[in-house]
Amino acid sequence: MSYDEFYVKSVIRSLPDWPEPGVIFRDVTPIFKDPRATRMVADAFIQRYINSEISHIACIDARGFLFGSILAHQLNLPLVLVRKKGKLPGDTIHQEYQLEYGSAAVEMQTDSVGQGDKVLIFDDLIATGGTILAACTLIKKLGAEVIEAAALIDLPDLQGSARIQEAGVPVYTLIAYE
Ligand code: AMP
Repeated sequence: MSYDEFYVKSVIRSLPDWPEPGVIFRDVTPIFKDPRATRMVADAFIQRYINSEISHIACIDARGFLFGSILAHQLNLPLVLVRKKGKLPGDTIHQEYQLEYGSAAVEMQTDSVGQGDKVLIFDDLIATGGTILAACTLIKKLGAEVIEAAALIDLPDLQGSARIQEAGVPVYTLIAYE
């Protein structure tokens, strides 16, 4: 299905002052109530990655799991999870990163990717880029290569996608909110 940015943007819900004053939360969940929008977005990412060298998709807790799973299924690729701290059983490694106030951490299972793997990171949105950069650190620590970071939405004013690119990882997003 051909991608219509205007249509997909009309389906995304913008919630001012949530979860805190000054933040406009870009809610992607209405996309999943709209099969046309879901298919458009999924198809756009499938087209981009169908003939790529990617061997694994690493999707980020929790909204990254939604399109991440569709992509992995459609591209017939393994899906691995980057989760918030304390959610994954077994042997894990974790990486802390700074938030505006305080810090957060993401975790991966140590056997999720390894030497020779070529990983696409997928999340719903890039804000400061901290989450994806922490995921990149984990994937590299496990010996794999990050081929690209993809997200449905970019907030370019927060410079996250620029930070990720400066770290040597290409970024692909479909929609920007200035
Ligand atoms: P960051 O690490 O700053 O790039 O933040 C990205 C993560 O936080 C993603 O997993 C998003 O789901 C979430 N996030 C940050 N800002 C927003 C926002 N304005 N609307 C929706 N999700 C957001």
